[in-house]
Parts: sequence; C-alpha cells; structure tokens
Amino acid sequence: MAGKANLDGTMVFTIMAKQRILVCPICGETQPETKVCRVCSTLLEPDGLLLAEGGFGPWWVRNEELLFRPGITFEQLADLAKNRKIDLQTIVRGPTTRQLWKVARRVQGIAHLLGRCHRCGEHVQPTDLACSACESPFLKYTDRNNLGLELGMPSKGKPNGMSSFLSDAEIMDTQSTPLMLPKVERQQPAGDDAQAGPESVGSPQFRAMQRQLEKAKRKTLVLSISFVVSVLVGAGLLFALLR
Ligand SMILES: [Zn+2]
Ligand SMILES: [Zn+2]
Repeated sequence: MAGKANLDGTMVFTIMAKQRILVCPICGETQPETKVCRVCSTLLEPDGLLLAEGGFGPWWVRNEELLFRPGITFEQLADLAKNRKIDLQTIVRGPTTRQLWKVARRVQGIAHLLGRCHRCGEHVQPTDLACSACESPFLKYTDRNNLGLELGMPSKGKPNGMSSFLSDAEIMDTQSTPLMLPKVERQQPAGDDAQAGPESVGSPQFRAMQRQLEKAKRKTLVLSISFVVSVLVGAGLLFALLR
C-alpha cells in the first residue's frame, strides 16, 4: 500500500527528504526516480519519450482512470473504433467537436467507423466515404496540431496589448519572459531519425531567431578581436616611431 496510489502531500514530502522525486512528463505522476512510469508505463528515456510524444494529438476519450494523459492522434482513435475499444456511446472530443465532449455516434470522422452516420444516424460501413442517406462526407482529421477551435463560435481574439486601463498586476503579467537559448548537447546518440531528435523541437520562427542570435554573437566576437588587434598594431607603430 505504501507508496502507490495514496501519495498525499505529506507522503511526498517525507519521500523528498530522502530521494529525488520525478514528475512523469506524460501523465504528471510524481514518483521516486525511475526508468518506467509506474502509472502510464512510459519509458522515461529519450527514445520512450519521443515515442510517447509521437502519439500526442487533439483527440480525447473520456476516461476517469487516465485523467492526466495528453490527447491522442486521429489514427489512434480510429484504431480504437475499428477494434471496438470504444463504441457509439463512448464520450470523446476532438477537432470536429470543437473540443466539446460528445457521444461518439455524433462525432464527425469517428461515428462512421462505428457504423453510423454522425449526421443522420444511418447505418453505414466504416469504409464508406459518404453517407448513402444524407450524403455527408466521412473525412479523416489527421492534423495533429489542430484542435479545431477556429471552426467554432469564439472569435479569433485580439493581441493582448498594453492599455492605460490595466492594473499593475496585469502590466507585470504582460511582460514576456526573455527568450533563452537552450543548452545544446551535441553528444546525443543519433537515432535512426536524426531530424526527430530533441534538438529539432521548436518552431521555425524560434530556430530562425536562434540563428540570428548566434550570428550577432559571432559578429561581436569578430569586432572585439579586430579592436584588440588594431590597438596592438597602433601601439607597435607608436613604439617604433618613438624609438
Ligand atoms: Zn506517467
Ligand atoms: Zn447521414
């Protein structure tokens, strides 16, 4: 019993005094340092984490036993449907529900894999491309990074700029954290997919900014070296003249 599910605050505290505590990056469970998460069984090493991250997506199946897991990809949810691990009554959410929970029989992209048209409820085949009754198309939603929120009612929002009506606390909030260059560790054992390595994490804009910063650093170095050299040459000339 000790140690497993009943980790309340005090227990975590007493353990912390003795050994390092690890937060599983996938499910957030705190536990003594380990190689495999005791709750979600993720291998907590670069390969295992990359594999787990590869499965992240914008779809969720409501499951009270896995409350803290990230969303899954469309392909994973489709597999669950094809293998009957979920049914028409399962509660899911994703890009086609604008992230609102819905019963699977009404979810576009999923319901037809379970044998029903999401729109009219007609019996269909999972392989059908459209409903034979209402002609609604059955599409795949494989974009991992699209939560589907722009399809919904909420407006796109405006830049959260400064206004003279902000409180002091809000002004503090608006100050963005300075961008830090991540420490580059070159000696990662190169996996078969070199481009999928942890160093490739980050948006193209971020990498572009990184490159610019590095260029600026190099320029400063070159300038300071040439300054030192010219001072030395000047001193040498002066010395020669004075002799
Ligand atoms: Zn975990
Ligand atoms: Zn239909």
